[in-house]
Amino acid sequence: MEITVAITKKKGGEFVLEKAELDDPRSNEVLVKVVATGMCHTDMAVRDQQMPTPLPVVLGHEGAGIVEAVGEDVTKVKPGDRVVMSFGSCGHCPNCQKGFPAYCYYILPLNFGGSRPDGSHTLHQNGKALSSCFFSQSSFGTYALATERNVVKVPQDVPLEILGPLGCGIQTGAGAVMNNLNPAAGSSIAVFGTGAVGLSAIMAAKVVGCTTIIAVDINQERLEFSKELGATHTINSKNQDLGKSLAQIMENGVEYAFDTTGNIQVIVSALESLASKGVCGIVGVTPPDKFVQLDPNLLVGKGLTLRGITEGDSIPDLFIPRLIALYQQGKFPFDKLIKVYPFDQINQAVEDSEKGVTVKPVIKIGYQ
Ligand SMILES: [Zn+2]
Ligand SMILES: [Zn+2]
Repeated sequence: MEITVAITKKKGGEFVLEKAELDDPRSNEVLVKVVATGMCHTDMAVRDQQMPTPLPVVLGHEGAGIVEAVGEDVTKVKPGDRVVMSFGSCGHCPNCQKGFPAYCYYILPLNFGGSRPDGSHTLHQNGKALSSCFFSQSSFGTYALATERNVVKVPQDVPLEILGPLGCGIQTGAGAVMNNLNPAAGSSIAVFGTGAVGLSAIMAAKVVGCTTIIAVDINQERLEFSKELGATHTINSKNQDLGKSLAQIMENGVEYAFDTTGNIQVIVSALESLASKGVCGIVGVTPPDKFVQLDPNLLVGKGLTLRGITEGDSIPDLFIPRLIALYQQGKFPFDKLIKVYPFDQINQAVEDSEKGVTVKPVIKIGYQ
């Protein structure tokens, strides 16, 4: 079928809205009429070719919409169901079987390969293949082809428009806290970086009952905003000494630290902020030629743990409905992070997000 997509044609280039031809769903695939798609740093990382996906590509990996048609083997959803599209995973490798689909052995081909696993493309333009199947969806389009594995059925009584970011950025921050770090009620955490991922982690830390939640950033406006979402303390590391400020709040360090910046210096600071036996989670995308230099004695002597976390260690089918229930009870107000842009303003959304004007842009593509 003919659809409209936002294509990224060259490295660092703008999105261009054009027509393209979308395949019919295969046996395990789900055709989704896209209502809205969030924009996430990973879209920009591929645009800038820090990820291996070839160009030209149709990006978009936080889609939400309504199921239009399903392949013959699909039983999870049916036409008319409302879904969020999350990351792709195979379902049968050891990590998928253990309940860790974000560490699927086939995570790269299923999310960044630019095609189906068999090499075929779901999108074509004038007979030529476009890089597609981005996060098993490529949802910057009026329709998207996802798979049964990566669609998550969502309730009817929540605005579909805001739900897409739960499929990646929001579950990355919230899941790191709720699924991986798992701080006990009454514990302390420092969150480095107050973008969509960091603010989601702060909301999650409040949900699980952390009583000291320290937001660290250099953007004062974001730090103020983080207090609305649950931060009990803020540190502006541009004009405050981080170590001294932390020591004033928690004399012996925090029990948990969470870095969302991918900045090497910040990761080291996050580790250094920990009390003995502390755990530091990292989720940011770090440029490929940058390495953390750390003193192993620090880890050994203080019994510290440094943990990489992908997609909040979540099983999207279980975790996204939990986040929606928390949102509906007013305990996880992630809608406050979102600003909606019409499809033809997608480049404005990129600009606002890169300038830090908008925390989480969502591109409104179709109607419910
Ligand atoms: Zn797998
Ligand atoms: Zn993402």
